[in-house]
Amino acid sequence: MQEYHVLVIGAGLAGMRAALEAHKQGARVALMSKVHPVRSHSNAAQGGINAALTDRGDRWEDHAYDTVKGSDWLGDQDAIEVMCKEAGQELISLEHMGVIFNRDEQGRLGTRAFGGQRRARTFFVADITGQAILHVMYEQILKSGIALFEEWFCTDLVVENGRCVGCVAMEIRTGRVAFIPARTVILATGGLGRVFEPSTNALICTGDGMALAYRAGVPLMDMEMVQYHPTTLKGSGVLITEGARGEGAYLLNKDGERFMARYAPTMMELASRDVVSRAEMTEIAEGRGVDGCVLLDCRHLGEKKIRERLSQIYEIGLDFAGVDITKEPIPIRPGMHYQMGGIKTDIWGRCWDPQGKWQGVEGLFAAGECACVSVHGGNRLGANSLLDTVVFGRRAGATAAQWAQDKPLPTLNDAHWVQKTETRIRTLLARENNGDTVARIRWEMGTTMDQFLGVFREQEGMEQALRTLRQLRQRYNKVSVRDKGRTFNTALIFALELDYMLECAEAIVRSGLERKESRGAHYRRDFPKRDDANWLKHILLYWRGENDPPTITYLPVTITQWPPEKRVY
Ligand SMILES: Cc1cc2nc3c(=O)[nH]c(=O)nc-3n(C[C@H](O)[C@H](O)[C@H](O)COP(=O)(O)OP(=O)(O)OC[C@H]3O[C@@H](n4cnc5c(N)ncnc54)[C@H](O)[C@@H]3O)c2cc1C
Repeated sequence: MQEYHVLVIGAGLAGMRAALEAHKQGARVALMSKVHPVRSHSNAAQGGINAALTDRGDRWEDHAYDTVKGSDWLGDQDAIEVMCKEAGQELISLEHMGVIFNRDEQGRLGTRAFGGQRRARTFFVADITGQAILHVMYEQILKSGIALFEEWFCTDLVVENGRCVGCVAMEIRTGRVAFIPARTVILATGGLGRVFEPSTNALICTGDGMALAYRAGVPLMDMEMVQYHPTTLKGSGVLITEGARGEGAYLLNKDGERFMARYAPTMMELASRDVVSRAEMTEIAEGRGVDGCVLLDCRHLGEKKIRERLSQIYEIGLDFAGVDITKEPIPIRPGMHYQMGGIKTDIWGRCWDPQGKWQGVEGLFAAGECACVSVHGGNRLGANSLLDTVVFGRRAGATAAQWAQDKPLPTLNDAHWVQKTETRIRTLLARENNGDTVARIRWEMGTTMDQFLGVFREQEGMEQALRTLRQLRQRYNKVSVRDKGRTFNTALIFALELDYMLECAEAIVRSGLERKESRGAHYRRDFPKRDDANWLKHILLYWRGENDPPTITYLPVTITQWPPEKRVY
């Protein structure tokens, strides 16, 4: 197999942005994805992407402050400053690539309001922003001639003497396993949403990259910080974009009351997501819900605005809930949506620290939802994730290309690495059917996580979740795959993914048990207050093997100009 300077694993927005930038720097680049690139989960992003443009009288400092406050002061402020300063340029680059953003009445790029922000600074393409950007970026990838491994599944990172030198992957179409040597590898494998059931995330969001990096020696940071989005459909978990509330939709309880007035009198429905989700769950728990939900009312926006700006939501309402949102409120409830934690990186996307304050793996980079820079801290602001993908995707691509320049690969034993993965796959396929199934284990993991690691948590529940996960791991080690073939064996892929998911689930629980306070999305009934004296710090987990608990260390939060304050909306 040809050697690459930069191998990007993941072809969502973070991966494609990284690949384009590395290519621009003159690197020989390859891009891999387990699904066709435009089926990557970025495709699902509805509401928009944030940027503070000065010609609107907005300031990056205001965007940064809103982000710091949104993060409940757990976000690293140096990283947040980078993201917010570079947002405007990145937005313009997207426009120049060909993304046709919605316009305002003056013909300028239009904005809508999003939660936790004092200004409307979310740029959008109707309610299909991710899809629009993803398609444009894929066109740029095709134009560039970057090598593509489409529908290849990465099974292992190859690390020799503390340096990542490529990966092993399986071509899904044929089942062929190959070693792909690369001077640097960028993980852009997206989130882990499906570790929870239900989730707004696609079935492919299984945390592969997080588990791969973790096992390879990179710490996972702030894994307890899991975002529940306030507006998802009951049962299916399908997302109703925050853009709906940004356009002016209300949240009502069973008495028709706009209950957010009692929880966030200034920002109301547009308080940060953790605050709104807790308010909804409190309403439901205290008997003011409607069949386990509260109501999202869009009627007063008028049919024209709904059809123009929320067309996908209109269709989702009809198709998934049988509700015409122009005529009646739609029942919604909080649902798992986003992982703020992930693979520890610095602001250049590096998964190692040249100063040695934390341990990692040289030559390995990460960007996008799989990474934790950290710009989202305890709670991500809506429309900051797409921004994170493009800003830190670009930075990772540029840094990896430069780093690779004078770092030739050592002589490598390709056959050894291929054999290792082959053995794993053959063992899985050879197992006898014992009556258990991958789907059943996955479902039990997901519902356990939703029950004990959701909007409200406490020690006992999280300990119960850990015990269940340990049992599920044992069952996983004995489960068989019914389809024994190698051609497009999606059952095999599901089984491999479940291994990564169980790893991520356990990391979330271990981190959740560790943080003995409430901050952002991590709300503990047994420790209901934020505790800056003891917990204004990141939690890092280092993998020590399947049967051993991880080593836990801490890193201080970087504060540049916004010391912690009381967080009210
Ligand atoms: C319904 C929904 C709506 C959202 N709306 C918004 C929004 O409006 N604004 C906003 O800012 N954020 C939004 N988000 C969040 C945002 O969309 C995601 O966080 C972001 O798109 C993630 O991008 P990514 O590039 O990191 O990963 P993804 O787009 O998920 O891409 C991951 C890539 O990794 C590949 N991959 C994964 N594992 C492997 C493997 N083992 N081998 C090979 N390839 C692999 C996949 O094939 C894919 O190409 C939304 C999220 C959801 C669920």
